[in-house]
Amino acid sequence: TLGLIALDSMGNITVGVSSSGAPFKSPGRVGDSPLPGCGLYAEHKVGAAAATGDGDKIMCHCPSFHAVQLMKKGLSPQDACHNVLDGTIRRTAPDRFFEIGLIALNVKGEVGAASSVEFPYTFWSQGKVVETSTQPPHSILTNA
Ligand code: ASP
Repeated sequence: TLGLIALDSMGNITVGVSSSGAPFKSPGRVGDSPLPGCGLYAEHKVGAAAATGDGDKIMCHCPSFHAVQLMKKGLSPQDACHNVLDGTIRRTAPDRFFEIGLIALNVKGEVGAASSVEFPYTFWSQGKVVETSTQPPHSILTNA
């Protein structure tokens, strides 16, 4: 899955997600990626978020919607991603670990990311790569 959040100079923000879905999925399965609030969510004047990983479980947590609501309350994208991951993991027993990666951007151009597994992301600004990583900046969970 590839999630992309874009903010223009007028403050318009949007999010898009492209996915081939889960490996060996059943015909007709709809994953998290196209579901608003789950794989993606954007709100005018606030920000946007995109998530991926184990879509069948992600669908139960609406992480993209949750991250945007937290940014609406004033949290930075990084704190919002952290908070969502933290809550999501807390609501699941340790033996029910699942893969989830979450990115967020607010209309100020601040970014955030968090994940339970290694998760590559890149932040471009003004056509230049500002930050790129194959590690989450704040991995919430180690399932060791
Ligand atoms: N999130 C996708 C799905 O469950 C799979 C993936 O991108 O890893 O459909």
